[in-house]
Amino acid sequence: MKTLRLAKVSVVALLGLVGFVGLAFPGMAFADENDTSPAITIQIYNYSRASPSVLVGAEREAGRILREAGLLAVWLECPVGPSTPGPQGRCEKAPEATDLRLRVLGAPAANKFQDTVFGFTVHPVLASVYYEYAARRAKIDDAEFEAPIILGCAIAHELGHLLLGTNSHSDSGIMQSRWEPNQFRQLMIGNLVFTTEQSKLMREQARTRMRFKVRNSDPGFISRRADK
Ligand SMILES: [Zn+2]
Repeated sequence: MKTLRLAKVSVVALLGLVGFVGLAFPGMAFADENDTSPAITIQIYNYSRASPSVLVGAEREAGRILREAGLLAVWLECPVGPSTPGPQGRCEKAPEATDLRLRVLGAPAANKFQDTVFGFTVHPVLASVYYEYAARRAKIDDAEFEAPIILGCAIAHELGHLLLGTNSHSDSGIMQSRWEPNQFRQLMIGNLVFTTEQSKLMREQARTRMRFKVRNSDPGFISRRADK
């Protein structure tokens, strides 16, 4: 874990020294890249009333789900608002190939709040989730501790869209488009995860991004769309 002056980096999912070395010295980790877990950095911007502890809990849950898919998630909590002077480290720099941006928003702008709407993505690098979705669901169950878990699952789902493409809903697992009582039961016991095929595709996509990061520092590559 590494703390910057104004931006906190929390490595929630460390998959051993090899993966960690891969973050610091990417070129060293590619001798046999299939043996290492590809890493993605998620710049997280909290525009909601989610507390720091809820956010950390959500990062932990999303990191666990990504880790089960064979991905190493590094969370970079970035300050929001105009009153935070630089330097802000990685948050201020142009995004790298493996950087994804995540906004935690309050609730959808529209008044009609649907329980099935927990976020959206602007492919290929920006994901947004609604904190109120998780908070509301936890309130229904009269279980506040559920909020970070639900939020974490929503984050994993939206990050999945970034790595799998927009048309990536499935009939099972965390990429199901509708979450109903059965899905909530699964997510609360940690069973709402990516399918084997989705995990493979996400690792491939992350490795592709890592190769771009090493070979091409021009962030313009991110205008490339995934195949789906
Ligand atoms: Zn979706």
